[in-house]
Amino acid sequence: MYDVIVMGGGIIGCSVAWQLSKLGKKVLIVERTDIASGSAGATDGVVGYHTKKPGPQLDLAVQSIEMFKTLNEELGMDVEYGLEAGGIQPVENKEQWDMLSAMAEEQRKSGVDIRMISAREACQIEPNLNPDIYGALYSPTGGKVNPLALTVAFSRAAKKLGAEIMTNTEVTGFIIEEGRAKGVVTSKGEFRADAIVNACGSWAGKVAKLAGLDLPIKPRKGQLAVTEPIGPYLTATVQCALYNVIKFRPETIKDQTVLKLGSSLSIEQQESGGLIIGGTREFVDYEGENTFEAVETMMKRAVRFFPALKDVSVIRFFSGFRPYTPDGLSLLGEVKTLPGFYMAAGHEGDGIALAPITGKLIAELIVTGKTSYDISDFSPNRFL
Ligand SMILES: Cc1cc2nc3c(=O)[nH]c(=O)nc-3n(C[C@H](O)[C@H](O)[C@H](O)COP(=O)(O)OP(=O)(O)OC[C@H]3O[C@@H](n4cnc5c(N)ncnc54)[C@H](O)[C@@H]3O)c2cc1C
Repeated sequence: MYDVIVMGGGIIGCSVAWQLSKLGKKVLIVERTDIASGSAGATDGVVGYHTKKPGPQLDLAVQSIEMFKTLNEELGMDVEYGLEAGGIQPVENKEQWDMLSAMAEEQRKSGVDIRMISAREACQIEPNLNPDIYGALYSPTGGKVNPLALTVAFSRAAKKLGAEIMTNTEVTGFIIEEGRAKGVVTSKGEFRADAIVNACGSWAGKVAKLAGLDLPIKPRKGQLAVTEPIGPYLTATVQCALYNVIKFRPETIKDQTVLKLGSSLSIEQQESGGLIIGGTREFVDYEGENTFEAVETMMKRAVRFFPALKDVSVIRFFSGFRPYTPDGLSLLGEVKTLPGFYMAAGHEGDGIALAPITGKLIAELIVTGKTSYDISDFSPNRFL
């Protein structure tokens, strides 16, 4: 018998498990394959404000990013957090400039420093950036992290405090008694708990369905390329303006290919020196292959903004799934129709940045029945 069973050993599940363990709860993580085998191991590591939808998601990110500052120390492991890497979004035309300016105005309502800058200023910050741009959006205070290292650090810290981790164990059903969730049925038997948390990322909708719940989380694929390590090339994380437009205002995109592939650019340099290049957003169910069409688009976008990259070798391609929700907000909280069943999923392209605060708030909710920060906008019950 456990106090809490966390389903899914991704960055969200491991963060929730660590926070619950800190509060003295006996926790079991049940993971279908291995820790960080989902999106946490197939992602960029942008921990910035400027890529967050204005409103509740950005407000939550502000809370979360504050927590990153002390994570190395608290977790006892270097998670490669670059605090002031900053973020830049090069803009290609006046239409994009106007759209990003309006978004930035909304984003500033969360108290963050996000502003429009000239092409010259952008190139002073990132000297390898193609000066042939209209201008850029700039956020000087966001950072980046190694998502794999952070997930492993959360899981190890939870384990140190007594959490148990069962890998290669799939949740296939639930124990429901008198209308309340009482445990999970898995490929390795049944386990009981006072509360269970669905942190299954892009699969969270499928897992919820096993309990008869219809929650609209679906996978949104992102393809990525990694280059050979090169010398210092980029400080900030860079996403072209289309990145925010596709994420927040897809209805404004007229080009059907751009819309289908969600083709923008996202690029950052890891501590190892390799560049991670990505920026696609596709609805193709769980088809994880890298496709010529998407890879070609990504590479063209990369060279358009960073011409010198044409001579750099790519050593690996891979893809991951963002847990998409229709309104762009995560699902955090207890399901009203099934007491004892909590959702901590649906973070789309923001799950790395939002992992620390998600763990904290879900743990508070389970242990005390309330949270130190209002998460009513994120209630899973808005879909029920
Ligand atoms: C290309 C790409 C780029 C991204 N860039 C960023 C970024 O720069 N910044 C950012 O903040 N976010 C980014 N994201 C988003 C981020 O990666 C995700 O939001 C985050 O990883 C979601 O974490 P999770 O723990 O919810 O899901 P996951 O990491 O996918 O974990 C879910 C886990 O549940 C397990 N599971 C599934 N079904 C079952 C079952 N039945 N039983 C037991 N276990 C099960 C899976 O095996 C998996 O390990 C990006 C994502 C992608 C794909």
